Amino acid sequence: MYRIGIDLGGTNIALGIVDEKKRILHKASEPTNLPRSAESLTEAIAELVMRELDRAGISAEEVEAAGIGIPGTVNPVDGIVEYANNFGFVNVPLKALLQEKLPFPLHAANDAKAAAWGEYQAGAGKGCRSMLMITLGTGVGGAMIINGSCIEGYNYAAGEIGHMVIRQGGKPCTCGRRGCLEAYASASALTEQAREAAAENPDSLLLAHAGGNLEKINGKVVMDCVAAGDETAKRVFDQYMSYLAEGTANLINILQPERVVIGGGLSGAGEALLSPLRQLVSPMLYSRDSSRNAQIAAAELGNDAGIIGAAFWQPADSF
Ligand SMILES: [Zn+2]
Repeated sequence: MYRIGIDLGGTNIALGIVDEKKRILHKASEPTNLPRSAESLTEAIAELVMRELDRAGISAEEVEAAGIGIPGTVNPVDGIVEYANNFGFVNVPLKALLQEKLPFPLHAANDAKAAAWGEYQAGAGKGCRSMLMITLGTGVGGAMIINGSCIEGYNYAAGEIGHMVIRQGGKPCTCGRRGCLEAYASASALTEQAREAAAENPDSLLLAHAGGNLEKINGKVVMDCVAAGDETAKRVFDQYMSYLAEGTANLINILQPERVVIGGGLSGAGEALLSPLRQLVSPMLYSRDSSRNAQIAAAELGNDAGIIGAAFWQPADSF
């Protein structure tokens, strides 16, 4: 038997056919083409699913379930997208609209939770009882899996770790508060911090590595310049890491997960990011003297995490 995972993004709809060993056997994607009505979108997704099953030579009877990860607040019980700003959806019954076009059971989840679930099932969190995922991208996303269950919260909006304030009265955040972790520790925040520093220090390697164009400075340029020993890049990186460590330590102290998985593009830096993070976090832990503390690891599945997690999503208990 097979499962289908769909990762619905603002730019692309990605699909994977996944086997029982949680390996993706067949992948496809097509543009999301926003703005678009939920009816037209679900029609396109259903067509994509049936077409790719056909291409892979798998019949609908061989599919035991499908899942879709959606960037928004999703009620995983009834599959209603309560809010998805990229799509302009408010209280849209996306799961029901898609389910009526598919011949197998469908689950719906928030995309960050689906990606964390994928890492937990088949990637960096495999074998753990509890895992915290921190995704460093345009924002700071996350999800908390405790004792085999992804924490949804009373209103399914749990896990917004990026909106934990680490500097009261600090930088404004998109959520309306000030000083959120996201405003300091997202990949976008690192880029912004590096651009400011490069403008003030035009002789640093940052500008040279970006071809003299401030706009081309990104996380990778910062990491390259740190590796090359550039003082300005190192100062920016150290400051950035102190923000990330503050948030990570807060979360570990609250949850004490077995593993913390760092995802998003920046996690590609591997040990260059993880090693200083471990060193900074360790003395901040309430449990620093414990014989067991959370391990910090990089995500392993990249974009496949969302597909595998959606395919194997287990809906939360309704309460
Ligand atoms: Zn915020």
